[in-house]
Amino acid sequence: YLQSMPKSETIRLREKHVGAACQLFFRSSPLKIVRGIAQFMYDETGERYLDCINNVAHVGHCHPHVVEAGRNQMSLISTNNRYLHDELVILAERLVKTMPEPLSVCFFVNSGSEANDLALRLARIHTKKKDIITLDHAYHGHLTSMIDVSPYKLNLPGGPEKPEWVHVAPVPDIYRGKYTYPKDSQSEEVLGQKYADEVGKICKEISSKNGGVCAFIAESLQSCGGQIIPPDGYLKSVFEYVREADGICIADEVQVGFGRVGTHMWAFETQDVVPDIVTMGKPMGNGHPVAAVITTPEIAKSFADTGIEYFNTYGGNPVSCAIANAVLDVIEEERLLERAARVGNHLLSRCEKLKHKHRLVGDVRGRGLFVGVELVTDRERRTPATAEAKHIVNRMREEKILISRDGPDSNVLKFKPPMVFSTQDADRLVDTLDRVLSELDDERIPVKNIKLEVLVTPLNEETSSKDLILKSNMKQSVKAM
Ligand code: PMP
Repeated sequence: YLQSMPKSETIRLREKHVGAACQLFFRSSPLKIVRGIAQFMYDETGERYLDCINNVAHVGHCHPHVVEAGRNQMSLISTNNRYLHDELVILAERLVKTMPEPLSVCFFVNSGSEANDLALRLARIHTKKKDIITLDHAYHGHLTSMIDVSPYKLNLPGGPEKPEWVHVAPVPDIYRGKYTYPKDSQSEEVLGQKYADEVGKICKEISSKNGGVCAFIAESLQSCGGQIIPPDGYLKSVFEYVREADGICIADEVQVGFGRVGTHMWAFETQDVVPDIVTMGKPMGNGHPVAAVITTPEIAKSFADTGIEYFNTYGGNPVSCAIANAVLDVIEEERLLERAARVGNHLLSRCEKLKHKHRLVGDVRGRGLFVGVELVTDRERRTPATAEAKHIVNRMREEKILISRDGPDSNVLKFKPPMVFSTQDADRLVDTLDRVLSELDDERIPVKNIKLEVLVTPLNEETSSKDLILKSNMKQSVKAM
């Protein structure tokens, strides 16, 4: 096939020369992926996998229009943004057209982490404050500045210490969070308000101690942390509290932007709010590293008024901009928002039926092609079914379907496929999941007796899925972010 090195040699070289902190998906038996088309990926033997997790390959792996745009621009010129170039200004204008007023000023960067880092810098300069409010289990990037505001990493055993200027609000998870239904038997709106009041409380504390808030940063729907759909009204109320405390509201759309929710281009629109800064990345380049920050003229002016040039060697280079423009072309031409809404609704309603059939399925939630299935061993107590979730991800891989799991207990099955996913793909995914869940319903595998053993599986040890159940170990789980 396309890569000639035997897989064992690829593994050997990787173990020898690549940092062990860079973890592989399916560590005990990693996949070697050599090619991708639309919603499918192929390994070195030609085996085809249905990709249900790659939200970066937004318009489909290797979409010919995007590939062509990159190839063409690469053959003309790739330079930095100190020169005028039409691709950059066209991209800026197109992105701004998708945003509500007054979001109209763009900065181009190379990754989601860089975008969020710049957002924080803008907020600090504009407000002259330091304190940041973030949500529990949130992930905003791998830079030092971003780890500081990412409880997803801070919460890990051995994770870095949370700085005193970072304040963590509870994630608005109405299934297993601080306020839940139907235990608290309250409407979604009431629960949303309770969660927002938690942010309000933090704003008050910061204002009395430090004179005001710098920023609130959150994903519009929390993906890292368990596919959380905030209750209606949540962000609206949070933004009011933050703005009362003179803070800035940052919407991280790195995972959930570009129409994934189906009804809107940006997930913050589902909460009917207008952030002060929006960050975007992943799907923007369909696999090519390009990301952006969009903000208001007022905030951009504070940044310019410092007199310090913002220069980013690759940010806004013509190749990246041509690729991002091509992604926008495909989203429009192939009407991918409508498709995400249609296929997403189908996927969600089919997953919903699994809840009535399988005791493990505790909650099903989603918007468009952003869906989570939360597994529990006890529906009453909502006890996370961590080992079972791990088993299912591995069993699905055996069925040539790639899914991942997430959440603080790694018990939420996560679907965020390329937007070209079809209803047939959704049916195949759910039919297979149904079958795998039935295997677990079967008394031959006593789910309740699964023990979580601490065991580190060597990289190239081949492990059967039944072994994996017994060897399930949360610490070595690899989450597809
Ligand atoms: N924000 C969110 C919500 C993310 O999921 C990620 C990546 N998983 C990032 C920011 C960081 O993006 P990148 O890896 O491109 O730096």
